Amino acid sequence: TNLAGLLADTASRALVLPASALQRHAITISYAQLRHLVAALAQRSPFRDLQPGDVVTYLVPDPLTHLLIFFAVMAKRAVANPLNPAYTADEIAFFVGDGKSRLLLVPRCDASPVSAAAAATRPKTSSPAEEQEWRMPYRQAVDDLQELAALLEGARATDPALFLHTSGTTGRPKGIMLAHANILATVHNITDTYHLRPSDITYLVMPLFHVHGLIGATLSTLASGGCVVAPLKFSVTAFWPDVLAHAATWYSAVPTIHQMLLARARTTYPGHSGALRFARSCSAPLSSTTFKALEQLLGVPVLEAYAMTEAAHQMTSNPPPPAQRKPGSVGVPMGTTIRILADGGRECAVNEVGEVCVHGENVISAYHNNPEATAKAFYQLPAPQAPLAPRRTADSVGPERYLRTGDMGYCDRQGYVFLTGRMKEQINRGGEKIAPLEIDEVMLAHPRVREAMAFGVPSAVYGEEIEAAIVLADSDDGGTSSAQDEAVMAQQMRKHCLAQLAGFKVPRRFHFVKALPKGPTGKVQRLQLAKALKIVPS
Ligand code: ATP
Ligand code: MG
Repeated sequence: TNLAGLLADTASRALVLPASALQRHAITISYAQLRHLVAALAQRSPFRDLQPGDVVTYLVPDPLTHLLIFFAVMAKRAVANPLNPAYTADEIAFFVGDGKSRLLLVPRCDASPVSAAAAATRPKTSSPAEEQEWRMPYRQAVDDLQELAALLEGARATDPALFLHTSGTTGRPKGIMLAHANILATVHNITDTYHLRPSDITYLVMPLFHVHGLIGATLSTLASGGCVVAPLKFSVTAFWPDVLAHAATWYSAVPTIHQMLLARARTTYPGHSGALRFARSCSAPLSSTTFKALEQLLGVPVLEAYAMTEAAHQMTSNPPPPAQRKPGSVGVPMGTTIRILADGGRECAVNEVGEVCVHGENVISAYHNNPEATAKAFYQLPAPQAPLAPRRTADSVGPERYLRTGDMGYCDRQGYVFLTGRMKEQINRGGEKIAPLEIDEVMLAHPRVREAMAFGVPSAVYGEEIEAAIVLADSDDGGTSSAQDEAVMAQQMRKHCLAQLAGFKVPRRFHFVKALPKGPTGKVQRLQLAKALKIVPS
């Protein structure tokens, strides 16, 4: 019933830290060793003095330290609040203040911008965090330790466990307090979805300070008794040598990472995918072009899933074979109930676009300290008459609380969910509502396009007009393209789009850029793109 209980007391491998520039040999840590290290840590200062419910904010770059802190915090019935080590002082101050952190852990490195930033937060936070510099002594002997289980007595399923924020793609990040039960529900949904077994080995690509890397890849693997291979950070060149050397059976990543792997495949892909069973894509739209190219390259199924921080990660996924996976779909509900609702809560028909709403044990029931957001985010609905999807649905009865995801989409006759874009990102061109995702898909299908995103810009005539930013596939082969090349390419793009889209959806201007600016979770803030690219003044 609690997260620290995930760690079995066995000699099986729990974690492998691959060799890297900093570390000549891979380090292997068993579940029993991990438990011992966690138990040792939980009894040391500053963890020893934590009270249940205390929020512990930490910024650590390496995955072992991260997981030791996470489980030590769980062992103390406290709340983990991992942050991106790249945050600035102001950002750290916001998150520390929002969670009223008791403790702030930063790496021992005087020159580190994180240390400087952390020091700067002290006077600003409403409840000043007790700043600690702390480093795990990896090689310290830990023999005579109390068992972790004893430390965990009393941790309840409803206790808060993890405090995170949404990615901030459409506005200021919202605080999400996840309970042990929310996280465990997702963990079980994921192990069920992909039939994870002790023989499974995941190669960790995503950072641990968001639900994708922590819950989607790591905790679900540990819960199934498998092994997590966790490099210090993702590298396109280390990816395949590591995946093959450690016989990884799956990895999960955002589409941007899949694209990076594809773009460099000519020089980095060894020609076979080793022990991989599947690749999972989640957290942002995977274009059909990338999906097909990736399946063709790897020769294993690419399973797209749909997740959000509010749902402790996964809500739907394409199932592995022999069940059907559908390109362009985020799959079927897995341990959740999905309903597509029109404004006001009317249930949409099959194939009718509405707002995707979700119910499940994994879903929060309120935003943290944000009654306004909470008031707008939920529908109270009678339970569905018949199962809406052919697969598992959440087993609850009576009226149910549905979280409005803010995503638009539809369900097909077989219960597969298709997303058509975010509600807030719709472009309103003279009263015509346009979902820019459809335009992205068309642009991405052009063979010279690597990344593409349509966005709205203010227009005196239409209110909003559509423009697009494009990264060409050969944009990093050196040399900037001339204005003339760009004019020719823009002509080609216009023709390409007109062949597949109504004229009013075709971007008025195409901007060719070296890269689309991305946040730490690999997402582009579409609503900020015109400003970020200095197309409109900020
Ligand atoms: P914020 O809520 O602060 O604007 P965010 O919604 O990006 O940020 P997350 O919780 O990290 O924060 O992301 C959840 C969102 O990511 C979903 O609501 C959806 O829009 C998008 N998403 C997740 N998976 C997919 C997918 N497979 N395809 C398309 N979009 C996806
Ligand atoms: Mg969101």
